[in-house]
Amino acid sequence: MRETLVLNASFEPLSTVSLRRAVVLVMQDKAVVEQAHPGLRIRAAAVEVPVPQVIRLCRYVRVPFRQRAPWSRRGVLVRDRHRCAYCGRRATTVDHVQPKSRGGGDTWLNTVAACGEDNQRKADRTPEQAGMRLLTRPFEPTPADALLLALGVRDRAALPEWLSAPASA
Ligand SMILES: [Zn+2]
Repeated sequence: MRETLVLNASFEPLSTVSLRRAVVLVMQDKAVVEQAHPGLRIRAAAVEVPVPQVIRLCRYVRVPFRQRAPWSRRGVLVRDRHRCAYCGRRATTVDHVQPKSRGGGDTWLNTVAACGEDNQRKADRTPEQAGMRLLTRPFEPTPADALLLALGVRDRAALPEWLSAPASA
């Protein structure tokens, strides 16, 4: 099921919700569709509506500023575009650069996408110990980036300019 990006009335990204929830918000006039999937329609109750990719709340909601994007395995895979950090092939697993057994945690900077083979080969070792080199450095996405990642938006050119602008710190 696709997720829909929710913007505050002020246009800043807030969160993602399920498509069903997004449609309900629009039907209840609590949000408007800012961007819809081209050509896609969804039946809700007795009407057909565009499939919202981005909705914007009609009323501004005050939210505490989130300093950091929440870490998730899925987020790491999307951040690294499903590319193995060690060989560049398709990745389906998440590797802890510093193994958990050595105190490495579930953090953006300590995890990379990895193919099953490399993940197994590296096992409980650091890249140095395993003689493996990281092709890319893991980085921490901004909260706004994380929302776009959650949406699975790879081609930012497909989004309105105000959305793909980097999040203000
Ligand atoms: Zn690999």
